[in-house]
Amino acid sequence: MTDERTVERAMLQGEASYERALRPENFAQYVGQAGIVDNLKVFVTAAVRRGDALDHVLLYGPPGLGKTSLAHVIAAELEAEIVVTSGPSLEKKGDLAGILTSLPPRAVLFIDEIHRLSPAVEENLYSAMEDYRFDVVIGEGPGARTVPITLEPFTLIGATTRSGLLTGPLRDRFGYPARLEYYGVDDLMRIIQRSAGILGVSIDPEATAELASRSRGTPRIANRLVRRVRDFAEVEGEGLLDLSITQHALTRLGIDEIGLDALDNEYLRRLIETFEGGPVGIDTLAAAIGEESGTLEDVCEPYLIQIGFLKRSPRGRVATSVAKKHWGAFGSAGQSLLPNI
Ligand code: ADP
Repeated sequence: MTDERTVERAMLQGEASYERALRPENFAQYVGQAGIVDNLKVFVTAAVRRGDALDHVLLYGPPGLGKTSLAHVIAAELEAEIVVTSGPSLEKKGDLAGILTSLPPRAVLFIDEIHRLSPAVEENLYSAMEDYRFDVVIGEGPGARTVPITLEPFTLIGATTRSGLLTGPLRDRFGYPARLEYYGVDDLMRIIQRSAGILGVSIDPEATAELASRSRGTPRIANRLVRRVRDFAEVEGEGLLDLSITQHALTRLGIDEIGLDALDNEYLRRLIETFEGGPVGIDTLAAAIGEESGTLEDVCEPYLIQIGFLKRSPRGRVATSVAKKHWGAFGSAGQSLLPNI
């Protein structure tokens, strides 16, 4: 492995352990998403009182909004064990059987990227979700028999950035589907203050507000920016995260005035300049940008739609007049394609 790849891997591992350290541990620490959290508190309390497993929960929304964190919080509040897996890693029916049959009573099974389950695994999940039953086929050919195995009651928490890719039968089996929303500036400020506290860095209120308003409504981005700005503050500043070092760091990171990053700006540049505002199909746009269409759909588009920059029409993606105005004022100043943080 080259040095660069070693460094990259160490950074990613660092990023992952950093995220774990900042993850909220209970409902009280979980900021925002009040509608969902208030409902979950009721469902969790009711399940605990009855001694039942909580009904299955589907969490969907763009990356970094707190789906994984909320799954861990729910398990902690249920005082239940949590087993974590993901759609792509459950390749065969046997993988699912192994996990389901070893769950302790009332455990939480968290399946990230649940839209990527194989059809065979998904079909076997239905009876597990509905009747806590798993059918094992013994033998082959005409002599094969199906033997049902009874499972301990459990709660499935599925997370996905692409609820539209879930099949109807799977979606219908979740008792509580919940869509996570982008966070407002006040909530992001609370998250940033908490993270700075855990990291032991001092950040002033103006810098907190600046970071919050340039984090794309996303806690993961807010937390990453705190860390990156701290690097600039330590190396090029006095160590304190104030407004001026924050603005300097954000400029260097290619984050613009409204929090759009290099990929968002490249998306806008292609849509507005190359394709004259659209409509243009997502695959054509993705090819021009040199990015996977799935990434654009998961990461860029939900936020651009949220801030009123983008519309999806039957004929393709269309830039709104607000987006064109913003681009005219800021974008065409020659945004460089800085790597994403
Ligand atoms: P997702 O699973 O939706 O991609 P995560 O749960 O991994 O998002 O969240 C990314 C990071 O953002 C977490 O490590 C956590 O520190 C922070 N975070 C997310 N949601 C919240 C929240 N509601 N309150 C506090 N921190 C949050």
